[in-house]
Amino acid sequence: MTLLKSEDYIHGGLQKDYYNENEREVCNCPYCESNNFNTIGNERGLSVVICKVCNLIYTNPRAKNTQENYFGDATIFFNEARLIFKRKKQHHRDANYEYELKKIKK
Ligand SMILES: [Zn+2]
Repeated sequence: MTLLKSEDYIHGGLQKDYYNENEREVCNCPYCESNNFNTIGNERGLSVVICKVCNLIYTNPRAKNTQENYFGDATIFFNEARLIFKRKKQHHRDANYEYELKKIKK
């Protein structure tokens, strides 16, 4: 593993703007294994659903190879996290978290 010397932000992972049918998979509830759910929202070809049996909210269909999509090369991910933990760079999802926090406060 090679550490970056610069403060450049390199985003790891291969997240996509849209996941085609061959890049996503349908799954049962990860908690109770029911396949009975209501869809709450859709984005990028993926959906967020709520299980009708246990109320767990999860992604279905979900992206295949999530480890590869969300983290990618371990070295890049480590370097990204290093800068975030040192508070030198923002996480690419900070804007999302801020948006959700504002909604919760309301
Ligand atoms: Zn469930």
